[in-house]
Amino acid sequence: MHDAGVAGRDLTEENESLRASMAHMMEQAERNHGIMCRHQAFDLEIVGSDSFPSLISTIFRSLPVISELDIVSLCLIDEGEDIRTVMTRLGVDFDDYPHLVFVENAPALGFVPSRSDLLTGPPRPLLGPYIPASHQPMFPHAPAGLQSIALVPLLRNKRLIGSLNLGSLDGTRFTPSMGTDFVEHMASIIAICLENVISNEMLKYIGLTDSLTGVYNRRYIDRRLTEEVARARRQQYRISVMYIDIDHFKQVNDTMGHQGGDEVLREVATRIKAELRVSDALARFGGEEFVVLLINAELADASVVAERIRTSIFNRPFALSSGNTQTVSVSIGVAALDDFARDNAAEGAGQALLAKADSALYKAKEAGRNRVIAGE
Ligand code: GH3
Ligand code: MG
Ligand code: MG
Repeated sequence: MHDAGVAGRDLTEENESLRASMAHMMEQAERNHGIMCRHQAFDLEIVGSDSFPSLISTIFRSLPVISELDIVSLCLIDEGEDIRTVMTRLGVDFDDYPHLVFVENAPALGFVPSRSDLLTGPPRPLLGPYIPASHQPMFPHAPAGLQSIALVPLLRNKRLIGSLNLGSLDGTRFTPSMGTDFVEHMASIIAICLENVISNEMLKYIGLTDSLTGVYNRRYIDRRLTEEVARARRQQYRISVMYIDIDHFKQVNDTMGHQGGDEVLREVATRIKAELRVSDALARFGGEEFVVLLINAELADASVVAERIRTSIFNRPFALSSGNTQTVSVSIGVAALDDFARDNAAEGAGQALLAKADSALYKAKEAGRNRVIAGE
């Protein structure tokens, strides 16, 4: 009887402990399921990102939450600053992304290629303690008490494009002996998405810029003008435009050759740009004509800038790669938006503004060229 009681208690205890461990396992399974669902939702969200800013914002916002990390940063290889240049031109402000780091080349990421016998394979993730002396560049804003990190290579077709950097205040979160399948899978999806949005943005950029001079093209300025007219009306500030045409450019081409003509076009674009504010937009409108859109500028302000552009081009002869020098002049027509009526379509008002600047330019040509005329 006594023995049976003990056996019964043992059985009950065993039963209870089994139940407890079952409950624990269920809990664990539910938790894992939850994590998996959150990661699936994250994957869907990043795959659906249609721009560089929306993709990286999602990564920085969601990944720390779903993966319970204390910091997530991204390093991107950007040789020659192409990505930065294009994104800046498309209006991305990198100050908005403090956890985004650009490096000049692959070695700067600090991965060593994995070796199996004589073959050199793609780099492997690095997991382990956070060592400020070597890892601080990957985590420019590391939280105090950062203990363990995972630096995961972002690979596209075995080519290293950057690294996904994960960090935790928990020293046991990432250790060298840990499996890396999960983080590698995550990094492979992020790498595809990054490459995708970056090439989309590059295409967008190419569609809006002039390949000869690198300034915007007509399509861009037409669209931007409509937006700016609408905004100027809402916020009641002035916008002005300049229509710039190189004088006797046919002769420049005739004497310097088409190549020389192209060099002059590039240099004219550079000199115009040097006189503008960052908020202004410069486009080559075709041939040897440029249009500048000045934000928050009265007709008088725009005329002053136009005069500065004219002298900066005329006063310093152009040194061409052929060794020749060439004096170049431009004629400029200036006009300001004075139509604040909301009933007139913004697009029409923008085009009317351009036409006004064009007719001022025509007057400048008539009056003898190398001058600025403001349209009233
Ligand atoms: P004006 O003072 O009246 O403006 O005289 P112009 O010779 O500048 O005027 P016109 O508009 O008749 O000539 C523009 C020339 O620009 C004609 C064309 O050969 C040249 N041109 C157009 N696009 C390019 C280009 O991309 N590169 C070069 N090198 N020349 C171009
Ligand atoms: Mg012309
Ligand atoms: Mg001309």
